[in-house]
Amino acid sequence: MIPVVMPTYARADVVFERGEGPYVFDTTGRRYLDFASGVAVTALGHAHPHLIKAITDQANKIWHTSNLFRVAGQESLARRLVDNTFADTVFFTNSGVEAWECAIKVVRKYQYETGHPERWRIITAGGAFHGRTTTAIAATKQEKMVKGFGPMQDGFDQVAFGNMNELRAAITNETAGISIEPVQGEGGIRAGSLDYLRQLREVCDEYGLLLLFDEIQTGMGRTGKLFAHEWAGVTPDVMAVAKGIGGGFPLGACLATEKAAVGMTAGTHGSTYGGNPLATAAGNAVLDVMLEPGFLEGVDRIARVLWNRLLELAARHPKAIVEVRGAGLLLGLRFAPEIVNGTVVDTLRAHGMLTVAAGDNVVRLLPPLIITETQVDEAIAILDQVCSELAP
Ligand SMILES: *Cc1c(COP(=O)(O)O)cnc(C)c1O
Repeated sequence: MIPVVMPTYARADVVFERGEGPYVFDTTGRRYLDFASGVAVTALGHAHPHLIKAITDQANKIWHTSNLFRVAGQESLARRLVDNTFADTVFFTNSGVEAWECAIKVVRKYQYETGHPERWRIITAGGAFHGRTTTAIAATKQEKMVKGFGPMQDGFDQVAFGNMNELRAAITNETAGISIEPVQGEGGIRAGSLDYLRQLREVCDEYGLLLLFDEIQTGMGRTGKLFAHEWAGVTPDVMAVAKGIGGGFPLGACLATEKAAVGMTAGTHGSTYGGNPLATAAGNAVLDVMLEPGFLEGVDRIARVLWNRLLELAARHPKAIVEVRGAGLLLGLRFAPEIVNGTVVDTLRAHGMLTVAAGDNVVRLLPPLIITETQVDEAIAILDQVCSELAP
């Protein structure tokens, strides 16, 4: 019999009952070090007092009103995102894929409005992940995601991640824009070089294309800057954000420049829930913490500590770990082919540590941004133990 919860996930047999900072507790009371963060979502850890207060205060006032009316929390959150990024305007969503879909619409509408209705195709990268709607899987083109769901929507051309020659060769008169993750998350924590990001900007300017960064996983402080592209010193025209932005409350955002969003006028896009008072109270509370002086510098500092400790770990276990990669607190350990990443994730969990598998036989480490050296020590001790067990 089919489970009442549609079985689209191979779930681990554990239920978490409560969380406290970087730890979660299952229904038997067992404690786990949370280096999964609900896949980079609970960026401030669990039960953060400031988030609890913000949500509770808002819950006592009003939860939802619809976008037929002004939403004060939405206006303040948009203002703060605009003030701290390249963007001039923000559309709020409930999830990552909706933020990315909005960004795709912005790209196509821009070309249409500026005299190029023939430009509607988007270039994406091999190994990309943009979500699970029919459009997003058409962009991703990964066998396991698209098989049986065809025919796939046309309009996405894929090139190898990091390869500018292939990318330039793929540009046609119909190309509208380029959609790239600065660091591929699901694809296996593959970081684009800063030079790659700069060259993407150049090629977009050269051909009149819009540059779309999917910062759903890389954004909201995860790399030690508010957004990962800041490291490269270039800006996109449009950006998809989600995951950490609500600290665990479902929220996403599509950020765009005024120029890019030229066609996004009344009636062209919408969402019933997107950016409702409760969600934007959570988003504002997350930003309160992340924009505090020193917060992002602290993320960068602890990320460098963890990075160095992981390099030492890999050196101690050369038969197990073949590569440490990523940026900030978006890190991946690539394991030797004999050691399947899913087994590593399961074994780590059995030892009280949560992680996430990714493509390329990578185990993703996505701790909350509030970890201290105590949790780095704990994580390294558990990883040491598990590597010794799996590659004696
Ligand atoms: C998680 C993720 C998405 C999809 O987000 P959902 O909230 O699951 O729709 C899209 N792009 C990237 C890079 C992601 O990491």
